Amino acid sequence: MRITNTLTGKKEEFIPQKEGEVRIYVCGPTVYNFVHLGNSRPAITFDAFRRYLEYRGYKVILTQNFTDIDDKIIVKAIEEGVNATEIAERYIVQYWKDSMALGIRPANFHPRTTHYVDEIIEFIQDLIAKGYAYVADGDVYFDVSAFDDYGRLSGRKLEELIVGARIQPGEKKKSPEDFALWKAAKENEPYWESPWGKGRPGWHIECSVMSTCILGETFDIHAGGSDLIFPHHENERAQSEARYGKTFARYWMHNGMMRFAGSKMSKSLGNFITIKEAVRKYGKDAVRYFIFSKHYRSPIDYSEEMLQETKTAVSRGNKILNDFEANLDESHPFARKSPWMEEKIAEFTEYLDDDFNTPKALSLIFELINEIVNSTDEQRKFEAYHLVRNEFGPVLGLFDIPESQSFDLDGLVQILIDLRGQFRKEKNFEKSDEIRDRLMNLGIKLMDTPEGTKWTL
Ligand SMILES: [Zn+2]
Repeated sequence: MRITNTLTGKKEEFIPQKEGEVRIYVCGPTVYNFVHLGNSRPAITFDAFRRYLEYRGYKVILTQNFTDIDDKIIVKAIEEGVNATEIAERYIVQYWKDSMALGIRPANFHPRTTHYVDEIIEFIQDLIAKGYAYVADGDVYFDVSAFDDYGRLSGRKLEELIVGARIQPGEKKKSPEDFALWKAAKENEPYWESPWGKGRPGWHIECSVMSTCILGETFDIHAGGSDLIFPHHENERAQSEARYGKTFARYWMHNGMMRFAGSKMSKSLGNFITIKEAVRKYGKDAVRYFIFSKHYRSPIDYSEEMLQETKTAVSRGNKILNDFEANLDESHPFARKSPWMEEKIAEFTEYLDDDFNTPKALSLIFELINEIVNSTDEQRKFEAYHLVRNEFGPVLGLFDIPESQSFDLDGLVQILIDLRGQFRKEKNFEKSDEIRDRLMNLGIKLMDTPEGTKWTL
């Protein structure tokens, strides 16, 4: 298997540290808001990549963190007049809902920053002792000039960084490219006691700590969005290699950004569609197909038309699979895979072994779906069906469950709410109440509010 390693900029043969086992760390969300579709790209991509490694026989240990203490969380908590933990808890629950809706399997470990503060303090103490960090009035900074290899991951030169960076008002660092490991608490901010006074961890240090605590000082793959290469991943690498004096992540994988009309999809630009909205509108399979339709390293342009087209293609595929399944009898058992199946499996693995080329794997899946429709050979149809539903579909997490499970319930309930509204207008309360009661019997509760009728399961 070959993957592009951001550290070398080359497509390299992937050889895990320990035979048969792959340890991966993916940077997870800062939990302070609903997640937009663009943010789901790393989670969906590396969920599928992990499934593929498992399909290839590896044992995979996947870790993805939650950043549950951060400036953005604190700002949101102050806005709402609640504590930061409440904000973090709320959006962690939302993350699980989104992940389930997108068919993303949980990682093996989901560590949270606030659960690792002791280890973070210990890590920082060690960096200070080794001469890589310094204390400045309650803050602790990493001294970039002390780490010779700084800039290698992002391909930036230290001199350029010094010219480009500025010391912001209130920062006490010696040099503009240095970054905070520990931040002294300002008034009303959550804090932990530390050798440097009350404060909290900086953003970068948490990932160095949680990844090495769980996966070891050297692990196989560090992954995330390409927007994290600098400064986040550059800094993680500097901290970890400075402390342990050995390779941190052996391979770095980065997915491209999702763009909205050419610019990055982001909360601050306000141009985003939430995952919840996307799944309701297009379904899980269409969203995943959309993500896989471009190579993971390339940018992907979000457009409603594209997703609509994707939904049409995926619905056709699902209908073919469902129809075939409905007519399935017991007459096609197979004791072993036919040479034709082996050939298709070899093709599938050839594509995904080549830097996880999902667009080619998707074309193969559609070729097989067409085989189900067009072949005149019943055995061949069955084999194609089997490959899509039970073999390749589950690797990408699409076409793996009957489509009815991603059914648009919202749309259907809205039709009934509209009908009930009409009956009420016509003062036919018998009928309008009947709709309400029968929905209630199904577990759907209607609520009349000043903003119209709402419903809940
Ligand atoms: Zn991280």
